[in-house]
Amino acid sequence: MSERSNFITDIIDADIANGLPASQIATRFPPEPNGFLHIGHAKSICLNFGLALQYGGRCHLRFDDTNPAKEDIAYVESIQNDVRWLGFDWGDHLHFASDYFERMFEIANGLIDKGLAYVDSQSVDEIREQRAGFGKPGTNSPFRERSIEENRDLFAKMRAGDFEDGSHVLRAKIDMTHPNMVMRDPLLYRIRHITHHRTGDAWCIYPMYDFAHCLEDAIEGITHSICTLEFESARELYDWVLDAVGGWDPLPHQYEFARLKLDYTVMSKRKLLRLVEDGTVSGWDDPRMPTIAGLRRRGVTPEAIRAFAEMVGVAKNNTVVDYGKLEYCIRQDLEARTQRAMCVLNPLKVELRNWPKDFVDKLQVPWRPDGDESREIPFSSTLFIERDDFSEEPPKGWRRLAPGAEVRLMGAYLIRCQEVVRGDDGAVERLICTVDLHSRGGQAADGRKVKGTLHWVSEAHAATVSVRLYDRLFSAANPEADPDVDFVTQLNPNSLKTQPDAKIEPAVATCDPGERFQFVRQGYFIADTNDSKPGAPVFNRVIGLRDSWAKAPKTDGRPTRKKAKKRDDKPSNKRTRAEVRSAARAENPALQSAMDHFVGEWKLSESDADLLSADLDLIAFVKAAVASHGTPAPVASWVVNQLLGVIKDTPVASLLCNGTQFGQLVSLVEAGGVSKSAARNVLGHMVESGRDPAVLIDELGVGRQEDAGLVDEAVDAVFTEHPSEVERFLGGDQKLMGFFMGKTMRALRGRADGQAVRTALLSRLK
Ligand code: ATP
Ligand code: MG
Repeated sequence: MSERSNFITDIIDADIANGLPASQIATRFPPEPNGFLHIGHAKSICLNFGLALQYGGRCHLRFDDTNPAKEDIAYVESIQNDVRWLGFDWGDHLHFASDYFERMFEIANGLIDKGLAYVDSQSVDEIREQRAGFGKPGTNSPFRERSIEENRDLFAKMRAGDFEDGSHVLRAKIDMTHPNMVMRDPLLYRIRHITHHRTGDAWCIYPMYDFAHCLEDAIEGITHSICTLEFESARELYDWVLDAVGGWDPLPHQYEFARLKLDYTVMSKRKLLRLVEDGTVSGWDDPRMPTIAGLRRRGVTPEAIRAFAEMVGVAKNNTVVDYGKLEYCIRQDLEARTQRAMCVLNPLKVELRNWPKDFVDKLQVPWRPDGDESREIPFSSTLFIERDDFSEEPPKGWRRLAPGAEVRLMGAYLIRCQEVVRGDDGAVERLICTVDLHSRGGQAADGRKVKGTLHWVSEAHAATVSVRLYDRLFSAANPEADPDVDFVTQLNPNSLKTQPDAKIEPAVATCDPGERFQFVRQGYFIADTNDSKPGAPVFNRVIGLRDSWAKAPKTDGRPTRKKAKKRDDKPSNKRTRAEVRSAARAENPALQSAMDHFVGEWKLSESDADLLSADLDLIAFVKAAVASHGTPAPVASWVVNQLLGVIKDTPVASLLCNGTQFGQLVSLVEAGGVSKSAARNVLGHMVESGRDPAVLIDELGVGRQEDAGLVDEAVDAVFTEHPSEVERFLGGDQKLMGFFMGKTMRALRGRADGQAVRTALLSRLK
C-alpha cells in the first residue's frame, strides 16, 4: 500500500506528534445493512482500512444496524464478503451496533438523570414545526420540563412496549434556539415495533443515528471517525453527546470527506434497489451495477478498484469523478494480467481456395507478446473472421478485408479476398479467399507490406460461445440532473448486447469460470462465474480496449469546449497562451520551479521549458517520461513537437497513457524499433487507450523489419544459449516455439515485432 498523504493523514500525523501512539489509531467502516455495497463504499473502505494499514492501527467493520425497517441478514453477509474480496481484514473487530443497545439504553437513562434528555409526547410533525428554520428560533415542547422521575418512568414504558409507534420519543435537551438546527433538541430514540434481524423482538425502541453513531465509536475506542460531508452539521451533536456522557478515552473525533460521485452512475442504495426490484437489471450483482458485487462479476479486480480509490484521493469538496477514470484503472490492471486470445464475436465464413483440404497447420502463438508461454492455434481451410472486418465498398483508408484486398490473419498467414458469395436474401454469406502459402507467421516472402491484421478462428476447431457485451448503464452523464425526470428514463438502451454464437479458439473454450482474457481487438472478457458451465463458458465483456465514450457529447447541460479560434478571427483582448503561462508561473511557485529545473538542470531551451511547465499535470507527465527514458532533451522534443500536437487542447490529466509509457515510446523510436511516423500513429492510440507502446506497435504491425540483422543476431544468441531446447524442437516439440519467441523478444527488448521474430526463428529451425 502506497503511503498516501491527504488532509486526514495530516490530522493523524498531528495527533501522533501530540502523543497519540500510532498503534492506537482506530478507524471504522460502518455500513447500514440495507443494501449491497457500491463503488462509493469501496472508496470509504479503502480509505479507512488503508489508514489503519498505513499507521499500524486497526479498522473495525461495524454494522450500523439501528434501523431495522430495511435491514436484512443477507446484506450483512454480502457486505462482509465484499470487504474481504477488496482485500481488507478487520481481524477480531467485527461489530454490530445492536450489540450495544443495552448500553445505549443505560446511557440514555444517564442523560435523563443529568436533566439532558426528556420524553416528548408530541407527534414528529409537531416537533418538526416547533424546530422552525434558519434564522427563526424554535419553540420549546410543552413536555420539555417533565421531571426526571416522569421521564425515567415513561422511557422505561417505551422500552417495555407499552406505547404505540410515534406516541413518544426521547429527545436531548439542548437549545431550541440553537443556530445549528441539528442541536434543537434532537431525537435520541423512537418507538418502532419491528422485528430486528439480530435482536428479534427484544427491542421496540431504536436509537437515532446521531445518538448511536458517536457512542458506537466511543465504545469501540475509535480515534478517527471518518464520514461523508453531509454529516458536517451533525458533528456538533456528535461532540455534544460524547461530552454529555463523559469519561471516554480515547475521545473519538469525526472528520468529513467528499463522497464519491461518478458520472453515468447512480449510487443511492434506494435507487439501486429500485433497478433490482423493477427487473431492470438481473440483480445486485448484475455486471452493469456500480455495486462491488456487480463489478466483481463484470470481471473487475480488487486491485483495479483500489487503484481507482487511490487515484480519486480524499477531498474536502464534492466533485463528480469522470467514469473514464474507473475504466482507465480497469484497463491498466487487465492489460497487465490477461492473456491474449482470439474470439470472433460476429462471424463471417472465409474459405481458403488453395489451402490443402484436410491439412491443419498447428500454429504456436504466444499468450502475450512479452511472455514465454504459448498455445496452439489450428489453421485450416475454413475460417471465421469478424463480419465488421469485411467491407464490400470500403471507405478510404480501409485496412481490413475487401474484394481484392489482402490482410494478415494474426499469427498466421496473409489472405486475399477473391469472391463474395451471397445467400438467397442477398446478404454476404461467405468469402472465398486465397492464402499466400509462403507467409506463415504473417510476413510475405517478397517483403510486400500488408497493413491490416485481423483476428480469426478455424471453423472446425472453434467453439461456439455466448458473449455479453456490457456498456455503461446510463447514457446521461448525470442521470439525476433533473429532479422532475425519473432517473430510469436515462438508462442506456445498449448497456447489454448478447452475441449468442461467437466463435472462440479451442484453447480458451475449456477455461474455468472467472478466467480473464483479452480478446484481441475486442476488449477484456471474463468467463462469467454464475452462468458458465464446464466446457461451455459464457463471457462478459469487462471493458473495451479504448474509451468509446471519450468523445461523447456531455448530456448534462455543461458547456462543451469551444473550438480554438482561427487566426483571422477578430483580435480579442484575451491574453495569449504564453501570457497565460507566464501569469500562472508568477502565481504558482511550483510551476516556476519546474521551469527553472527544466532550463537549469535539464538544459532545455527557454521556449520548450515554458511550454512544458504550463501546468502541474504536464510537469508530472514530463518528469515521469524523462525518468523512464533517461535523457531530458529527446523526451522534451517529443512532448513539444508530437504530443502537444496530437492532444491539442485536451488536458494531460485526462489522457489514458502516462509519462512512463511516453518515455518508453521515445526509447523505442531511438532504438529503431519503430519509425517516427509510425510512432506518431502509435502515440494517437496510446493517448486514447492507455496501452503500452510496445504492445501497440506489435498489434498495429508497425514494428520495423529493416533490422533483420538485429533479429538474426538475437535468434543466434538464444539458440546458442539453449542447445537442448533446439534439439527438442527439431525433434518435434512444437511447443518450444513460444519459449524461443519469448527469449528472443526479451533479448530484443521489444525492438522488433513478433512476426519478424517468428519468421526468423522458423527459417532457422527448419
Ligand atoms: P445510501 O445513502 O446510498 O443509503 P449510505 O451512505 O447511507 O448510502 P451507509 O451504509 O450508511 O450508506 O454507508 C457506510 C459508509 O460508507 C458511511 O461511512 C458512508 O459515509 C460511506 N459512503 C457511502 N456512500 C459513499 C460514497 N459515495 N463515497 C464515499 N463514501 C461513502
Ligand atoms: Mg446511511
